[in-house]
Formats: sequence, structure tokens, C-alpha cells
Amino acid sequence: MAIPFSLPLIDADVIAEVNDALTNTGWLTSGPKVRQLETEIGRMTGTPVLCVNSWTSGAMLMLRWFGVGPGDEVIVPAYTYAATALCAMNLGADVVMVDVRDDFCMDPHALSAAITPRTKAVIPVDIGGLPADYDELFDELSQNALAFQPRNERQAALGRPLLLADAAHSIGASYHGLPVGRVADATVFSLHSVKNVTTGEGGAIALDLPEPFDNEAELPRLRALALNGQTKSAFEKNQTGAWRYDIVDQGLKVNLPDINAAIGLAQIRKYESELLPDRIRITDRYQAAFAGKPWAILPTFSVDRRESSRHLYLLRVEGADEAMRDRIIQRISARQVGVNVHYIPMASLTLFRDRGYDAADYPVTQRLYENEITLPVYNGLTDAQIDEVVAVVTESVEAELQHAVGDSPFDSPGARSGTQFDSPEARSGTQE
Ligand SMILES: *Cc1c(COP(=O)(O)O)cnc(C)c1O
Repeated sequence: MAIPFSLPLIDADVIAEVNDALTNTGWLTSGPKVRQLETEIGRMTGTPVLCVNSWTSGAMLMLRWFGVGPGDEVIVPAYTYAATALCAMNLGADVVMVDVRDDFCMDPHALSAAITPRTKAVIPVDIGGLPADYDELFDELSQNALAFQPRNERQAALGRPLLLADAAHSIGASYHGLPVGRVADATVFSLHSVKNVTTGEGGAIALDLPEPFDNEAELPRLRALALNGQTKSAFEKNQTGAWRYDIVDQGLKVNLPDINAAIGLAQIRKYESELLPDRIRITDRYQAAFAGKPWAILPTFSVDRRESSRHLYLLRVEGADEAMRDRIIQRISARQVGVNVHYIPMASLTLFRDRGYDAADYPVTQRLYENEITLPVYNGLTDAQIDEVVAVVTESVEAELQHAVGDSPFDSPGARSGTQFDSPEARSGTQE
């Protein structure tokens, strides 16, 4: 039986909640289900929360809120999905990429070196669900704060670049005992179909701005900014007599529909009690299975009081180069197991190459990418399926590693045919 890489959770609870939205509420656009979802996420983060229609639009909204635009610089890690950069580029800001450390997260020293007087925001990414090192990142920002040149009241009030967490992977993760959502100025979660909690498409912003900001007071301003800058949502205008509204800001239109919110609402209610423990079962089983393999470089889920939300299982193959990694994936795919690579270094993608970025400037990113294979992790993946993935991955890796030894220039053709390794002829016959 084929094992897909990813499957969204559409169970009886999700169906019941969507059914309730359609049958009992009279709401399709942002209404009671969105408010309930915001309350549930806020219970986890301990912050005010605004739901939006994607991570990307949520990040754009926060950058817009802070007044980021042309002439400004936004610093992002080179190891991430392109949206981390596009949210800034689409507002006209310049993106500065910095390298990561071996944990896949932004390198604070690389950040420090990249800060200029034009830096207005920094967007670290909690890759795979492991929180970036926020204390170190904040330290670097504070040490470089003197250079900061505010251009509006919010920037002056903060007195340094905005630390905006890309928590697309890390809902439910924690850093030094605090939930993600409480460790950056603002945190954006993705509720896209492949993420730990999904609304199909969606996102959520947790506000945790320092003094003198009042996060509760900022929330309605942000809500208006997400709705064309309009002071009242359809939900609020629907209260009797509350028809009058104003447009107070040049906003975006990025609110989350209630239909979508219902899907995530059913999931988030049991996320900490069931869905996250289930991801821990899956990823721990992979860890135990690969721990004894000499070629396996295991992902980190817990280090320095950083606790992952187990979004991705990022396996790396010691000794594999990019071409070998790709051949291993071909072998795995031929056996109907879905795997992926997270991520192609952003600087290698055409858009960024065309704009002058060079992957060679981010050597750690390149090194991590070259031998990385992401394995399936989703609710409902059974122990038997995990064991099947482990067997297929192990056999595929070990077959390629053996070929590599067979291809060694130290082996003469004569010597090779006498070894345990396949001849080139036999090998081409097994290439998928
Ligand atoms: C999924 C993802 C995004 C984008 O999320 P959307 O909700 O699709 O906009 C951004 N950053 C990272 C790291 C992601 O994995």
C-alpha cells in the first residue's frame, strides 16, 4: 500500500464542525467560528490572536502594520520556504538572506553581521517545528539597536527591528518554557493543508509586543487592517443598529472565512491532548529506528529547552551528495513511499538567482540541503506504516551507499566484478 507524504486530518469532528458552521450559524465569511478559533489558539499562546487567510498574508499584514516598505531591509534565513522572503518583497522591501546553523535555524552571528540602519524586520523560521534561538536573536537585535532609524511612531516605540517569527511549522512548540507565540514581537502560524493544524488555507498572528505597546489594544487595529482598513467586520455590523463604519487605514483583505475556521477549530481542540502526542509517537519511532544506522543524521526535537512541534522529520544521509540523495529518493518513490526535500535553498530558486542571490554565500544551508530527505509525518500514520517507511528508506540508502563504494576510483573494474557490489550493468538495470 502506498504511503503518501502528507494527509490532512478530515475526521468526524472536522465534518461535524463544518456541518455546524453551515447548518447553524448563518455565517460563511469571518464570524463566530473564526472568533472561537482565535480564542483556542490564544489559549495556547496566552496572547491576543488574529486569524488571516494564510501565513503569507499574515506576515505581510504585520510588516505593513510596522510600516515596512521600499528602502527597508528584511532579514530572513536562506533555509526556508520562499514565502518567508516574498512577504517582504511584495511590500517593496529588500530581502537579506543569512545562513543557518546545524539545527536548520537562523544563525544569530550571521544575523548580527547583516543588520544595517535600513533593517526593519527579522524573520527567523522554526524549521520543522524546532524554535529558533530567540534569546540569542534578541540579543543581537538589542546590541545593534543604536543603528536603528525609525520612520514612524510604531518603529520609534519599538526602537529596533521587529522580530517576526515564522512559526508556520511550530504551533504547540515551546522555547525556554514559553509557548511559541510568546517569544517574538509577533508570531505568524500557518494553517495551510500540510501544517500541524489546518483550515485548508489560513494563518494566525499572535501579538506579544513589548512595552509601551498594548497588545489587546493593537488587535482591533490589526483586525481592521486585515479587512481593507475597515473599522467593523460583517460580524460586527450585523449587530442591530451597528451599520455605520469607517475606512481608517489602507488595509489588505486577508480575513479568514468561517467555513475554513471550522476545520481548524475541530483540530485545535484536541491538538495538545491528541494530535501533538500522536506526532511525538511517530517521530520518536523514526528516531529509535534510525538511531543505530551509521549513515543517519537525526533531526533535533529537543535541545536547550527548545521543544519542537514535530512538524517535519528531517533525516540526513551522511556521505550522500545531492545526486546520491536524489537517487535515493527515486528508489524510495518507486516503492510508493512519499518523501520530500525541505528546502531547496532559496538562493537557488530562479527568482532569487535572477535577483543576484548566490547559494554559495550560504554554505551551511547548502550542506544541510544536499543530503536531506523529509519523511511522512501526519496524524493517523500507523506504527506498521512507519516501520514500512523505515525499511524502504534504509534499503534505498544502503543500496546507494554500496554503489558509491563500488564506484570508488580505487576499485579497478576487475576488482569490482569480484566484490559483493553490483556491476555497472546490474546497477543500470535496477535504476528506477
Ligand atoms: C507553509 C510555509 C509558509 C507559508 O504558509 P502559507 O500559509 O501557505 O502562506 C511560510 N513559511 C514556511 C516555513 C512554511 O513552511
